[in-house]
Amino acid sequence: MTRGHFITGILNQCIHNGFGLHTFKEELTGPEYAARYISMVYEKKIPYMLHTMVVDVRGGDPCIVTAMNHKKGLFEIEAKAVVLAMGCRERPRGAMNIPGSRPSGIYSAGTAQRFVNIEGRMPGKEVVVLGSGDIGLIMARRMSLQGAKVKMVAEIMPYSGGLKRNIVQCLDDFGIPLKLSHTVTKIHGKDRIEGVTVSKVDGNLKPIPGTEEYVSCDTLLLSCGLIPENELSESAGARMDPVTSGPVVNARLQTTAEGVFACGNVLHVHDLVDNVSKEAVEAGANAAAYVKEKNKDWGEAVRPKIPAKTKSVIPEGRDAGRTLICIGCPNGCLVTVDKNPDGSLSITGNTCKKGEEYARNEVTAPKRMVTSIVRVSGGKNPVVSVKTKEEIPKEKIAACMEEINRTALKAPVSLGQIVIADVAGTGVDIVATGDA
Ligand SMILES: Cc1cc2nc3c(=O)[nH]c(=O)nc-3n(C[C@H](O)[C@H](O)[C@H](O)COP(=O)(O)OP(=O)(O)OC[C@H]3O[C@@H](n4cnc5c(N)ncnc54)[C@H](O)[C@@H]3O)c2cc1C
Repeated sequence: MTRGHFITGILNQCIHNGFGLHTFKEELTGPEYAARYISMVYEKKIPYMLHTMVVDVRGGDPCIVTAMNHKKGLFEIEAKAVVLAMGCRERPRGAMNIPGSRPSGIYSAGTAQRFVNIEGRMPGKEVVVLGSGDIGLIMARRMSLQGAKVKMVAEIMPYSGGLKRNIVQCLDDFGIPLKLSHTVTKIHGKDRIEGVTVSKVDGNLKPIPGTEEYVSCDTLLLSCGLIPENELSESAGARMDPVTSGPVVNARLQTTAEGVFACGNVLHVHDLVDNVSKEAVEAGANAAAYVKEKNKDWGEAVRPKIPAKTKSVIPEGRDAGRTLICIGCPNGCLVTVDKNPDGSLSITGNTCKKGEEYARNEVTAPKRMVTSIVRVSGGKNPVVSVKTKEEIPKEKIAACMEEINRTALKAPVSLGQIVIADVAGTGVDIVATGDA
């Protein structure tokens, strides 16, 4: 059951590539990754309900799930086991205590992502992003690709919480400054936001007087952390873990509420979808076994392994152009390129062949994948997500986006369909990464 339009949650609005490297050994966009699981649901004829809000879960034998939707109104389902997978929510402005007025134009990065990628609406033209986790970085690029001017990404910590490869391909590619150890200390504007004051912070994360800088903008995107969506976990009677902010579970992902299991971002916030999928398979199998087994006592609480938080520091020497950050995978290896007297290149620091190839291309003819949306009329969605089938020369990105923005399609459009052939004369096609 999901309250959303899609059974695959947040993935449908994450139209960028970077999903599925572990599960499918391919770099897919969010909707492409989602489509693989949707077809498994169809194949196995698993019943599902969209636009259905679960308002209460009670653990027990049976568990009781109370939900509502337009067709059935308020209804209850009895189940021998329940798997909680409600994902997470974004930390809102109220949780950050930023002083100033309360104008419009302030969005969480995920809300803005939904507007741009699912509804085809731009939240604004001049943008400041607060928070440099992957969602903030990805939205800085997305807004730039759609023609907005992203003035800066401000980050309170002395490092970015996003992957190094995202600093390169989302900020550096678009000339967006990353201001580490900086935060927004005031919001200006009455009806619509007109600007923000950005200040440097000290080692205790306190703004340093005299460092204030006014930055005009009509949009502020907040990307300041995610927290598990835990209301239903609590109502189910599950004990909560103050470290993960999700429910306490045992080795079989069973919460302390009878018959209730949990997985994905509701359990703890995951960076990689592959880990969410793995955990979901485990939770489903365990819930099925629980229904069949007589002995329901599966042991003590075990905190799930939470990977260390990303702390990306921009390496010194990179500005000199010799040291590159490989964007081929999330490892972000530092690769050094030296030009030999005979004109050939010596490449060191790469840990795989892809790293060498990336470095060679980057200093001779840099290439990038472009992901975006194309307008569609007559379908259930106003836009369809698309990507370049292969990487294209970096200098062709602007021309590629112009062509994408000029294009209008008629429904139906299906995943994999060529929607623009030979975009911007690159020889590469634009293909749909979803259906419309
Ligand atoms: C912007 C962004 C970029 C990302 N980029 C990458 C990337 O490049 N590579 C990568 O591997 N991973 C990436 N991730 C991470 C990965 O996509 C997520 O961790 C994963 O998809 C989360 O899955 P989930 O099922 O736990 O939660 P979600 O996808 O959030 O699904 C939760 C679902 O539960 C529904 N729900 C919640 N409460 C209720 C209720 N009361 N009643 C009914 N339904 C409810 C929600 O509507 C939603 O449909 C990214 C995530 C984000 C947000």
